[in-house]
Amino acid sequence: QYKQKFIVGGNWKMNGSKKTVRRLFKILEKGPINNNTHVFVSVPTIYLAYSKSFCPKNVQLAAQNCYKAKKGAFTGETSPAMLKEIGVEWVILGHSDRRQIFKESNELVAEKVFFAKKFNLKVVACVGENQSEQAAKKTYDVIFKQTKAISEKLCGDWTNVVLAYEPVWAIRTGKTVTPEQVEEIHCALKEWICLNVCPEVGDCVKILYGGLVTGKNCKKLARQPNVDGFLVGEASLKKEFIKIINAKP
Ligand code: PEP
Repeated sequence: QYKQKFIVGGNWKMNGSKKTVRRLFKILEKGPINNNTHVFVSVPTIYLAYSKSFCPKNVQLAAQNCYKAKKGAFTGETSPAMLKEIGVEWVILGHSDRRQIFKESNELVAEKVFFAKKFNLKVVACVGENQSEQAAKKTYDVIFKQTKAISEKLCGDWTNVVLAYEPVWAIRTGKTVTPEQVEEIHCALKEWICLNVCPEVGDCVKILYGGLVTGKNCKKLARQPNVDGFLVGEASLKKEFIKIINAKP
């Protein structure tokens, strides 16, 4: 059961090939993967079905996006029902790439979260501020607003939804956020949920951290009591991912 475990997800983004699938899943098969960690890997949609036969039993597959409808005239989109049908367990929604490049609004992300959950996908809902918002000290305004949109759609039922806090300015910039800063923000998010959803959800919601998590900094980050796992970009395409998976003893 993923809820009792530290969760580590890899996000390949638009990277990889069939060869990468075979190579990286072989590395995961070899592991070792700590029994107390729940692992998922988010490969590009086109490789999800192909990955199924290479994916070790103790790793689950994730999609990087899906639409908010079961079927219909939505050219280029993938429905949660389709993902479920081919054995995908997780979906990442509201990643900053989607919000920034593809202009996904808080409302659209929230609708997608609601819909994916309806189809029994486990959802990683991403929140996080960009560089200018951080510079303007708007971190909390931004992440609370993003969380509020999601929470309004969920109407108190956060089953199968985990949050990922990803400060956009720390992704691919080399700028680091200290483990203490991460802990403070995760605590604030949980407190917001306690106050605005209910204490039961606030106490058990999981928050993953994403933003240049590496083999070097993963242990320190994993020691923070409110860091419940990681969402890993770049390093999930490397052998180093195994070290990150095992960051929590
Ligand atoms: C991401 O984009 O979700 C991410 C966390 O990337 P990286 O680990 O490469 O910073």
